[in-house]
Amino acid sequence: MDEMMFCYQCEQAANCTACTGKAGVCGKSAETADAQDKLTGALIGFATLLLDIGRPIQPPQALLLTEGLFTTITNVDFDPQTVAQLTDKVWKAKQEAFASASPAPAPVSDYDMQKLWQEPDPDRKSLCSFVLFGLRGMAAYSYHARVLGYTDGEIDLFFCTALRAIAQERDKDKLFQLVEDTGRMAYRVMAELDKANTGAFGDPEPVEVPLTIEKGPFIVISGHDLYDAKCLLEQTEGKGINVYTHSEMLPAHGYPELKKRFPHLKGNFGTAWQNQQREFEDIPAPVLFTTNCIMPLRPSYADRVFTTSVVSYPGVTHIGEDRDFSPVIAKANVVSKATGRGAIGRTTGGRTVTQNVNINNQFNGDRAGQQKSSEAMDKAAGDATGEMARALAFAK
Ligand code: SF4
Repeated sequence: MDEMMFCYQCEQAANCTACTGKAGVCGKSAETADAQDKLTGALIGFATLLLDIGRPIQPPQALLLTEGLFTTITNVDFDPQTVAQLTDKVWKAKQEAFASASPAPAPVSDYDMQKLWQEPDPDRKSLCSFVLFGLRGMAAYSYHARVLGYTDGEIDLFFCTALRAIAQERDKDKLFQLVEDTGRMAYRVMAELDKANTGAFGDPEPVEVPLTIEKGPFIVISGHDLYDAKCLLEQTEGKGINVYTHSEMLPAHGYPELKKRFPHLKGNFGTAWQNQQREFEDIPAPVLFTTNCIMPLRPSYADRVFTTSVVSYPGVTHIGEDRDFSPVIAKANVVSKATGRGAIGRTTGGRTVTQNVNINNQFNGDRAGQQKSSEAMDKAAGDATGEMARALAFAK
């Protein structure tokens, strides 16, 4: 393969086919793509060894598997170094599992992802890719449930068996069955996450979410990890700092235990995630990314961005497993100072940040660009329909 990278896991893929140059459409570099391939290969090797050993998957092992898969989904990790560090962790866990097994299993090597990307049989390539990308998405939800204390041994086992199949299974009927099983297990993962979220934060209710940013220091939180939202709200409670959701964190307002318990969860900032580079430019506030949503940063706001959990971006301050958000809170007090009250309740006057949210029927954008994009979407839909027909024909 002559390409500098190969990635076709999301709807943004170049020409609706694959990103193959120095960087993907999402901004992921070829170096990061390579690191993520190595990580995925290590996870497949680890999962295979765990199955060979035959013992129940231990919670730290399951956490590592979900963390690794989650790291490789779109708009999560742009830093090849942190991806490589996670791969090291997987190797270490694999060595430990191997050393403690009795009788000793046969050693298992990492899987070379080039074998999948260059798989000559298009059916097998499609079916295995479908399973892998499904697992990556499921891992994100499973991870969120796990940090809230909800786990499911069958889901953990499925991650392992499906990962092993990507490397080993040649029987296309069995792979097609695995695709169906992946769909079924994805429902189970979503049910698990729903149980975790409602168990921790109550049943979601319809609420009105203000779009006005009030005077005073504030923090914007993006992504969809409600545990991170809760930790941030706890640590900002009583400090005169408001918190605004962004993008996929919007549903947090519906959960009573977040909305009612924390009145400083004030509203939502911004529109769709893909508008963030423009919208974050001139807000006087730090932005915390908790999961997938982060786009390549512009210098105008890069020094106000923080990451946590599996999110990583070169040069950005990362909040570790202890979820100590002090650096984010300190930044809110510095950058928001001129906009209102300080963290200790001091009133310095200031201004209200007005969001430029217009919802109307007028189109002021790039008509030619929209047309091009629409044609690309049509082509993608056509390709997808063709693939589906092909899969159904194969199933018959
Ligand atoms: S994740 Fe990034 S590199 Fe991969 S297909 Fe999507 S846009 Fe391209």
